[in-house]
Amino acid sequence: MKIVVCIKQVPETNDVKIDPVTHNLDRRGLAGVMNPFDKNAIELALTLKDSRDDVQVALLTMGPDDYAESLREGMAMGADEGYLLSDRAFAGADTLATGYVIAQALKKIGDADLILFGRQAVDADTGQVGPIVAEFLHQPQITYAASLRLSGANEVTAERLLEDTKQTLVAQLPAVVSVRSELNTPRYPTPRNIQLSFAKPLTVWHHDDLDLDDSRLGQAGSPTIVTKVYAPEPVKRELTPLTGTPSDAASQLITALKNRQLI
Ligand SMILES: Cc1cc2nc3c(=O)[nH]c(=O)nc-3n(C[C@H](O)[C@H](O)[C@H](O)COP(=O)(O)OP(=O)(O)OC[C@H]3O[C@@H](n4cnc5c(N)ncnc54)[C@H](O)[C@@H]3O)c2cc1C
Repeated sequence: MKIVVCIKQVPETNDVKIDPVTHNLDRRGLAGVMNPFDKNAIELALTLKDSRDDVQVALLTMGPDDYAESLREGMAMGADEGYLLSDRAFAGADTLATGYVIAQALKKIGDADLILFGRQAVDADTGQVGPIVAEFLHQPQITYAASLRLSGANEVTAERLLEDTKQTLVAQLPAVVSVRSELNTPRYPTPRNIQLSFAKPLTVWHHDDLDLDDSRLGQAGSPTIVTKVYAPEPVKRELTPLTGTPSDAASQLITALKNRQLI
């Protein structure tokens, strides 16, 4: 069984600047860390690997060369190999263009039974890349999985946790699943595994290594137009303290709600 986990490197800090021209995150000089939700996806893959001895776990990321650091970290957790998709032609990509390149790389890797994603990246936060890849690969998708188990030779059963509902879904493999942090607690790389990770294969693919339609890459392949990025002004709300006994406070509250035609 082959499991591929897609991981993203995100800025280590919230103190990010927006590029005034492209309206995108100015990532220059920003230290990167692995997107926290992707560690839950790696942990799920490693838990399945621990439960049977025919599971291979590969990691895949699209980004500049320094994204290899997060691949090494994931291999130190226990993954078997890593793929870095890195090329200037991939820069300026929105989620559709990012998903396209990842899907083409997954086709080249071939035979992936389960493709795992974090529920979202903590920088752009769209949660779109996983579902986009599933569409490009014509595979079933389960998002926001809070539990997952292999429930048959070629089948997984997952529990989706949504705001106020739980759904139990079954999918035939190969399938794409994005996971929530409630799923598990990622293991820490042991010093021995950190050492071993440097001997594990890390493959770098550039534009010419993949079967790509250039009109789908980078800015050209990105239908998303960022017109403006700004931090909304915090709304200062007038607070009126409720005073007196609990029943005084209750009648003041009811009056206030009535005044605002909320009840
Ligand atoms: C017009 C435009 C231009 C942009 N230009 C750039 C740019 O030049 N450089 C840049 O870094 N960003 C750029 N971005 C942002 C970039 O599109 C998104 O960060 C990227 O598509 C991932 O989307 P997301 O962060 O919302 O991830 P989500 O969809 O929230 O991520 C969900 C999951 O998908 C997987 N995933 C996400 N990204 C990757 C990845 N790169 N590799 C592997 N797996 C991944 C992870 O498992 C992650 O948990 C641009 C966005 C727009 C709209």
